[in-house]
Amino acid sequence: MAETRIGVIGCAGRMGRMLVADIAGTEGCALAGGVARPGAACLGQDIGELAGIPRVGIAVGDNAEQLLHDSDVVVDFTMPTATADHAKLAASLGKAVVIGTTGLSGAEEKAVRDAAEKVPIVWAANTSLVINLLLGLVQQVAQRLGPDWDLEIFEMHHKGKVDAPSGTALALGRAAAAARGVGFEEVAVRGRDGITGPRPPGVIGFAALRGGDAVGDHHVIFAGMGERLELVHRATSRAIYAKGAVRAALWLKDQPPGLYGMKEVLGL
Ligand code: NAD
Repeated sequence: MAETRIGVIGCAGRMGRMLVADIAGTEGCALAGGVARPGAACLGQDIGELAGIPRVGIAVGDNAEQLLHDSDVVVDFTMPTATADHAKLAASLGKAVVIGTTGLSGAEEKAVRDAAEKVPIVWAANTSLVINLLLGLVQQVAQRLGPDWDLEIFEMHHKGKVDAPSGTALALGRAAAAARGVGFEEVAVRGRDGITGPRPPGVIGFAALRGGDAVGDHHVIFAGMGERLELVHRATSRAIYAKGAVRAALWLKDQPPGLYGMKEVLGL
């Protein structure tokens, strides 16, 4: 069977380097290339070497259009403005994209949704299999316990993370809100400070901690009177996200245009 050519947009980033290493080591995949931000210091460097694996004989480029031409699927873990541009470009070139970037604005989200009318796109705030199982568990528990159980979600990430709360924390909150049949934006409380007064019933509270090299911890707490259920996921390696994204890329190349999540990729 022909190998799937996968290109990495943002190949110099924390996730980009993991993705390059995972694609190079995964059967059925061929590394189509990688692009970094225009003007980046690593342009021209071997993408394998940059990812901490042996040389692969492909230089880091800065031409996303060329990379899309050379790939069956591209994977984009960059930043919201860049991701929105890449989604539009992929739609115009008829190429599939796996998007892992978080923190997209409404307009950027719309650009992704519009592109997905023309090409297949997987868009997932978290590509780990286990986090996607956790999303299902949270949905199940939220449905069973009802809104009189106070739901609080807190997360901790490394000091370089630029958006808060994490896309995963928001996805966990959205899963719970959907299970409770309420609009997420109406019940989400994204931070507290000062004299906040007592907790209004039915809200979903968020807290974000930042520091060191924490890869990503998520705590989902259902607090009741006399007992508390806490569901916790701790990521200790970005390899879990890279593995899930590469699995998504392999799955995506055979799909019709549309917007997909890891639920579809993993058949959950
Ligand atoms: P990072 O800052 O280490 O890497 C982002 C890279 O993208 C940087 O090297 C940057 O120079 C590059 N970039 C920016 N604009 C570009 C452009 N136009 N063309 C090419 N490259 C460009 O960040 P990171 O930790 O790798 O995370 C990247 C994104 O992925 C964030 O939004 C993060 O929240 C998200 N993330 C998602 C998952 C998931 O499972 N979906 C997991 C981890 C991180």
